[in-house]
Amino acid sequence: MGQRIVVIGGGGGGLGAAGGAKAVDPGAEVIVFTEYEDVAYSPCGIPFVHGKEIPSFEALFLADKQAYVDAGIDIRYNTTVTSIDTSKKTVQVLDGEPVAYDSLVIATGFGYANPGVPGGDLDGLYYVKNIREAMEWDKRLDTVKKAVVVEAGPLGVEMITALAHRGIETHVIDPNPWALGEVADPDIVELVHESWTELGVQMHWNTTLEAFLGDDKGSVRGVMTSGGEIECDLVVVATHKVPNNALAAAAGLKTGSTGGVIIDGGMKTSAPSVWACGDVCEVPHGLGGLPLQGLTGSHAYAQGKVAGANAAGGSRTYNPVYVPWGMVAGKWMIGGVAFGEVTADALGMPHVIGIADGISRARYYPGVKKVRVKLIAEPGTLRLIGAQMVGGEGIKERADFLGVAVKTGLTLYDLATMENVYSPPIGALNEPIAVAAQKGIAASKAT
Ligand SMILES: Cc1cc2nc3c(=O)[nH]c(=O)nc-3n(C[C@H](O)[C@H](O)[C@H](O)COP(=O)(O)OP(=O)(O)OC[C@H]3O[C@@H](n4cnc5c(N)ncnc54)[C@H](O)[C@@H]3O)c2cc1C
Repeated sequence: MGQRIVVIGGGGGGLGAAGGAKAVDPGAEVIVFTEYEDVAYSPCGIPFVHGKEIPSFEALFLADKQAYVDAGIDIRYNTTVTSIDTSKKTVQVLDGEPVAYDSLVIATGFGYANPGVPGGDLDGLYYVKNIREAMEWDKRLDTVKKAVVVEAGPLGVEMITALAHRGIETHVIDPNPWALGEVADPDIVELVHESWTELGVQMHWNTTLEAFLGDDKGSVRGVMTSGGEIECDLVVVATHKVPNNALAAAAGLKTGSTGGVIIDGGMKTSAPSVWACGDVCEVPHGLGGLPLQGLTGSHAYAQGKVAGANAAGGSRTYNPVYVPWGMVAGKWMIGGVAFGEVTADALGMPHVIGIADGISRARYYPGVKKVRVKLIAEPGTLRLIGAQMVGGEGIKERADFLGVAVKTGLTLYDLATMENVYSPPIGALNEPIAVAAQKGIAASKAT
């Protein structure tokens, strides 16, 4: 038997690591521990099954258990790792013997921040994560008339839309003045708010959660907020993601300001023979190096590939990130990359803005949709430092493209003269990115 690589975690990070390790050393023994009953499903699809856009949970499974057996990856389901001993190079599993490793990858992911208010043990508080639990909650949603979503971060936004599509009276409470308040600008989110209003969503901004309220059977009957009481049958707790770092911290691994495990450019931790990946660790922002934690499944998977490959003896690098993001919110798609106007202001970064309202197809082509693009650039050089978008289609592709534009240092001048595809069913003559860049250049000259 070759070297033994142990991976803790069966999410995108852990499975990326297992595959990355096997790619470098096919003879390695790779063991993956997960607390869950399954691996290889997409948690990202759960809100859309709840919203009935996807007909069943079965569609979210990406591979069956035999596929991992065939790939030589030994997955230990329903198995909790309780501690790591980095000097003996072992992990301890609940009710089991210590398991030795040559290399270890920690991919224990995220949890939702504890709301820290009374009533946290009531029945009816839904933390969306595990697919088996989601299947049970989905049956219950058939009986729910009124729901509250706590916080409109990325998952909250998807759940608000899903519950409203399901015909449930949906309330959102959030301490920020608008949805996605930590990343998105108000002039981008305003269309989403309008769309939620059309769907009957009741929004309570600048509102904090004070307590979950229960009935005499121990079930939730409402929430108390800084703006008063809201009755409901169900609460989706979509507080911000925090790193599930207890195992790593107890083993003495260094954690950073976000609580994420600190890694180097090869995803190696401060402990010998231990790598980490995914939402349990923090990675540097490509513009300025600010540590970021709790990114996305695609980041977790890519980091896992690097961590696993290096744990098996490879020498791959994971580069700083620029974080293109996007999602469906109400009837719109919303997205961006790197810094928005609000985050740039909060970080004290001077900037120039170019904003344009355009269209996704030729104006006469059926199904044409609005697309708003906002570009944020450094004064003087007009180097792009971020973008924000909302529209009916084509947001993901623009976010991905602008991610590369930020990463490679493109300027508004480059974007103002970009070539673009014009084909009536898929693209308009004037690309909104180019128009936004032209407006940004004009704004920079006017100041
Ligand atoms: C509802 C939902 C929607 C999402 N939507 C998107 C999306 O649209 N796009 C996107 O890119 N990403 C999405 N994500 C992904 C997500 O936000 C994370 O970024 C991603 O899941 C992180 O992957 P990870 O492998 O780091 O951790 P996780 O997915 O959190 O996995 C952690 C793993 O560690 C295991 N584990 C933890 N502790 C132990 C222990 N002590 N012993 C054994 N096993 C342990 C767990 O069983 C689990 O398998 C979504 C996630 C959810 C839940």
